[in-house]
Amino acid sequence: MTAAFVLAINMFIAGIFAVAFGVVAATDPTTRGARWLAVGYATGIVSIPLEFLVPYQVNPAPVTIAIFLVFLLALTFCLVGIAKHYAAAVPWMAITAIWVASVLAVPLTFNLSYGSLPRGLLYQFPYFAMHVLVGLVILRARRRQPLDLLLFTLNGAAALLYLSKPLIAWIVGTAATPQGYMTTTYAALSQSIGSVTLVALALVLLLVMMRDTAAEMAARSETDALSGILNRRGFDLHAERMLARAERADEPLTLVTADIDHFKRINDKFGHAAGDATIAHVAKLLCEPVTGDALVSRLGGEEFAVLLAGATLADGRGYAERVRARLAADPPVHLGVDQIVTASFGVAQVTRGDTLFDLARRADAALYRAKAGGRNRVSLALGELSSAPCGSLQQFAAPNRPAPGFLSTDRESSLLLS
Ligand code: GH3
Ligand code: MG
Ligand code: MG
Repeated sequence: MTAAFVLAINMFIAGIFAVAFGVVAATDPTTRGARWLAVGYATGIVSIPLEFLVPYQVNPAPVTIAIFLVFLLALTFCLVGIAKHYAAAVPWMAITAIWVASVLAVPLTFNLSYGSLPRGLLYQFPYFAMHVLVGLVILRARRRQPLDLLLFTLNGAAALLYLSKPLIAWIVGTAATPQGYMTTTYAALSQSIGSVTLVALALVLLLVMMRDTAAEMAARSETDALSGILNRRGFDLHAERMLARAERADEPLTLVTADIDHFKRINDKFGHAAGDATIAHVAKLLCEPVTGDALVSRLGGEEFAVLLAGATLADGRGYAERVRARLAADPPVHLGVDQIVTASFGVAQVTRGDTLFDLARRADAALYRAKAGGRNRVSLALGELSSAPCGSLQQFAAPNRPAPGFLSTDRESSLLLS
């Protein structure tokens, strides 16, 4: 009776989790893994009523084989779901191998004497193998946050529990026939083990999904849909952190602001869609020369900001010049070969005590000078020269001149002090 009671509870638990995964899948259609897990848990439920049928069978083989295969199918769906969630390749070859071996072994497994160790091992081995594949999928996904490690550990424990079941049956003894299974202590133990792994794995999986959905939503709210780079919200959030980090580590940090020149004309001449494509193209070019830690963002319209960690004013200027050169060499093709797209840049390096606002203000002022100076150029905010930590700035500075407000480089990158 005890085993029957645990089985009935398992049926409800599996049902609750099937619904829970179904709700996750319906709420966020991008979570493909949840759909497979919902189907997996729902399939698992089917095996439970079949267990209750076994005692009434004259020949229990068809129903016991069906239970064996249905549960294997449920585990397969769960494995696929976990692989999909982790964006890992589904190990279809290994899954097929397990299925072929399991089905071919059915005549052997179910003809061995009931309760014997070999039969138990043959029966449980495919389940063990499926859990091993789940473990490999998690390992391959290279996610190492606490919840992933917990899932990996629990899954490993579940794999070992399946393998230990034949030993438990051998130690505590089980029935002589499948019809007697439900009344044995082994059945109660086995079903309780199933219950614990069912709940633990499903709960951790739901937590993993909640965590990843929340992270994805946060990333989406910080990303500009048109260009795929950070939006202003994301930039402000991460830039504050980067600024604090640079100050703590006493490392240079440089902001480059960029604005596409005469963008309104591009919109007017080629239409808004071409304008949009130009924005996306410039965003791509802004990302390409980035080597270290950097935030590349679209602040709005055709204005961009790039915060370069560990970069001096000279590094920022070099970066801006590379983007400017790339833009000249690689115009947006959809605008036609005759159309040149250029951008102007302002570069400012953080000085001690700077807020993000101070830094942006100086970079914007430099950008304004680049526009005023004729566009398609890079201007440096030199106000901070005296306190800037990096000596490499000196190559652009004229030490015996009065400190200029800005330094601009024209199309040929020659030096122009204003
Ligand atoms: P300047 O060289 O002085 O920067 O001139 P500009 O024409 O680039 O600048 P202005 O600020 O006069 O015009 C910017 C235009 O950008 C106006 C606006 O309609 C357009 N714009 C803003 N956001 C978007 C967008 O998301 N897509 C497109 N296609 N156009 C946009
Ligand atoms: Mg513009
Ligand atoms: Mg503008």
